[in-house]
Amino acid sequence: MQQLESLLAFDRQHIWHPYTSMIDPLPVYPVKSAKGVFIELADGQKLVDGMSSWWCAIHGYNHPQLNAAIEKQLKDFSHVMFGGLTHRPAIELCQELVRMTPAGFEKVFLCDSGSVSVEVAIKMAFQYWISLGNRDKKRLMTIRKGYHGDTFGAMSVCDPVGGMHHIFEAVLPQHIFLPEPISSFSEGLHPTDEAQLEQAFARHHQEVAAFILEPIVQGAGGMRVYAPAFLRKVKTLCEAYDVLLILDEIATGFGRTGELFGANHANVQADIMCLGKALTGGMMTMAATLCTDQVAMTISRGPTGVFMHGPTFMANALACSVSLASLQLLDSYGWKEKVGRIEKGLEQGLRPLLQHDRVKEVRVLGAIGVVECHQSIQVAAIQKYFIKHGVWIRPFRNLIYIMPPFIIEEAELNLLCQVMAGGLEEEAHFVKEK
Ligand SMILES: *Cc1c(COP(=O)(O)O)cnc(C)c1O
Repeated sequence: MQQLESLLAFDRQHIWHPYTSMIDPLPVYPVKSAKGVFIELADGQKLVDGMSSWWCAIHGYNHPQLNAAIEKQLKDFSHVMFGGLTHRPAIELCQELVRMTPAGFEKVFLCDSGSVSVEVAIKMAFQYWISLGNRDKKRLMTIRKGYHGDTFGAMSVCDPVGGMHHIFEAVLPQHIFLPEPISSFSEGLHPTDEAQLEQAFARHHQEVAAFILEPIVQGAGGMRVYAPAFLRKVKTLCEAYDVLLILDEIATGFGRTGELFGANHANVQADIMCLGKALTGGMMTMAATLCTDQVAMTISRGPTGVFMHGPTFMANALACSVSLASLQLLDSYGWKEKVGRIEKGLEQGLRPLLQHDRVKEVRVLGAIGVVECHQSIQVAAIQKYFIKHGVWIRPFRNLIYIMPPFIIEEAELNLLCQVMAGGLEEEAHFVKEK
């Protein structure tokens, strides 16, 4: 067996990690195993997971029921093409998705990743208007500080500044960006937001195919939380001006915000919805784009008569089986109560950090806790501290945030919050010394 050192040297030399340099990559830590809320590193160090592997692993790692679902399916078959063939795992998953999502979502397109599901949603929106013979609606409208994925279509509606996507400006379609909402979760629609929305719709509606945004919580674009009334206003304007509404629930879906879907906070029905991340319980990649009958039928009555998309790994049977098992698990163990308890723990553990002079704002919703600092975080330094103290938290820019697996116990949640506080102290010294 190769020595770990030489494997890590190869990693440094040859393997891209997310958003990294090949000249000066940040350190990466080798994982040996993961179980429940713990990630075990190769040196035996056990870390409490604060990230759910980027929103995904809501039931924790190595869950026996999820493992069993994959093993069972593996014995029948793992994948067959979805063109001309179908299977029970896909059908049963889609039945469940239609049942659990807000009323109106009747048609399901299965795809391989969150970014692809956003591409599919955007394509549906454009094909919808083309099918109606409207050639003017060629743009999208969105808000700043959003994140929708890394492929080109998705990237074109990500926050242009924070996401560094502005460097692709010359090759990306130019969509319409409104300022990020200032309407806070508890205070309702701010008059400034309202006016900006009304003006933008009035001005651009004829060229806009769809408004796309993350409902209530904006994830990787800034970890912001906004008012349900803002979303309701967007919905009202979409209806008034004949613009489709796409909700990207890839991060917010499946209970993370305290409601099953982000849109449920506002009771808003969209035309198209993207799901991903926690869909498989974090076991493998899988996503879905759901739409209304109206959207699907219009596309199907259009000039091509078909929706023009079909990935090779569409409806992978292992992914469908494990997704179904994950959704059943979610149903069976009272996720709402668990997320509610996490929310309380985060409030108690993180709210006091507001007193720290580096901290600008603390935001908590459901099983999401965010500490926004005034300045950028020294990621490599603070990560080292976190690992030494037994937690896995990965900050970005000026944000330290956690979204632990729903199965986390009180003691582990407290540890996450305490180490976050300690990390801030440590980091403050680090920043001063520099
Ligand atoms: C992560 C994410 C995506 C992209 O999903 P990938 O699976 O990484 O392609 C899109 N939208 C939102 C809101 C996300 O959080």
